[in-house]
Amino acid sequence: MLKNDMLEQWDRENFFHPSTHLGQFARGEASERVIRGGEGVFIEDRDGNRFLDAFAGLYCVNVGYGRTEIAEAIAEQAKQLAYYHAYVGHGTEASITLAKMVMDRAPGHMSKVYFGLGGSDANETNVKLVWYYNNILGRPEKKKIISRMRGYHGSGLVTGSLTGLTLFHNKFDLPLDRILHTEPAYYFRRPDLDMSEADFVAFCAAELEALIEKEGPDTIAAFIGEPVMGTGGIVPPPAGYWEAITPILERHDILLIADEVVTGFGRLGTMFGSDHYGLKPDLITIAKGLTSAYAPLSGSIVSEKMWKVLEQGTDEFGPIGHGWTYSAHPIGAAAGVANLKLVDDLGLVQNAREVGGYFVGAMADALGAHAHVGEVRGEGMLCAVEFVEDKGARTFYDPAGKVAGAVVAEMAKDGVIARAMPQGDIIGYAPPLCLTREEADQVVAATAKAVKAVLG
Ligand code: PMP
Repeated sequence: MLKNDMLEQWDRENFFHPSTHLGQFARGEASERVIRGGEGVFIEDRDGNRFLDAFAGLYCVNVGYGRTEIAEAIAEQAKQLAYYHAYVGHGTEASITLAKMVMDRAPGHMSKVYFGLGGSDANETNVKLVWYYNNILGRPEKKKIISRMRGYHGSGLVTGSLTGLTLFHNKFDLPLDRILHTEPAYYFRRPDLDMSEADFVAFCAAELEALIEKEGPDTIAAFIGEPVMGTGGIVPPPAGYWEAITPILERHDILLIADEVVTGFGRLGTMFGSDHYGLKPDLITIAKGLTSAYAPLSGSIVSEKMWKVLEQGTDEFGPIGHGWTYSAHPIGAAAGVANLKLVDDLGLVQNAREVGGYFVGAMADALGAHAHVGEVRGEGMLCAVEFVEDKGARTFYDPAGKVAGAVVAEMAKDGVIARAMPQGDIIGYAPPLCLTREEADQVVAATAKAVKAVLG
């Protein structure tokens, strides 16, 4: 396609971009980037510049760009049947096949999958299912949901409330009632530097227990958490964290929602993060890796325990009053079927484990000793570098984000895209799961060069 010289002007005049500084963008003070193509782990902008996308879009293009198998499956589906709904028992070959494929991969105690469009609406569904469940069980007071500070669960009304990042609350009158936040499993940011990992895990558990006691266990319906926290800083939990949290939930009859929008379908080197940490969630949120973002599709996987109560509810009260026009959209479902097949055929879960481990290790070797790198951490194909002003005292730069933003901008000049995470001086990496060791080396080298340029 010929370069359209009007594109930038049209963009600035017409396009309301999500998660963007609106004024700076409209006035032309913030840069725009128009992406035109992609192949493997690389994307290309409209000027022909190539970048290694070490964030897989928004940690979603898990199989990499340009997969013709998925493109062809989408085209076939669109030609045969672009749309039919899934209400009152309707389905398509693609949506039924995908449901079977998801449930074949999900932990054994899960029962059914509901399909939505994106991670936010899937979590919205999950909160509604939790409320429905407790109403059917005759516990109308048991409705509050505990999330974690820095957790990310979407940016709708309830899901933006669950998200524990102030940027998503301020000036939106969030969080809504019924949504509470507790300490995240973020050892590097522990409140007291003298705490051991074990002390910190005990502290997180005690904080959770205290919140439950303060509110009253009969008012708490569910706890939601990402197996590895993503947008809040890419933070694997300290050893023993989930083992300390889950018995508290069980003791108080609190449901567990595992938000696996990022970790589902291989990113941690296991099919689900729940497999990695031995979790037995009541609900699992899936999106991104379900279709590798070739088409929008998400899901809520429901446990057998919850499913039985949902069935009982509809037997008593009639069909469930929940569904979107585009639930289980056939084009998304066709993309999902082709995508999950590719994940298997290319061995991407294993690659995430092996190359991901190599990548995090190489990043730690290259940057761990730098005076302003406080921590290099990761799990599977997720990695983060967190900057500090003073390493011994663990003090952070003010304003937060300046250093990470500058390093990421410097890396882009070198043809590598990483993400400055939204709260703190943290660079996040979530490459496609097909990353090779050579490509991992390129990301590490670009980071080391950029850190040297910015911080010396
Ligand atoms: N949950 C998690 C863990 C996420 O990372 C995200 C998106 N980054 C969401 C939910 C929301 O998904 P979406 O942006 O598709 O609504």
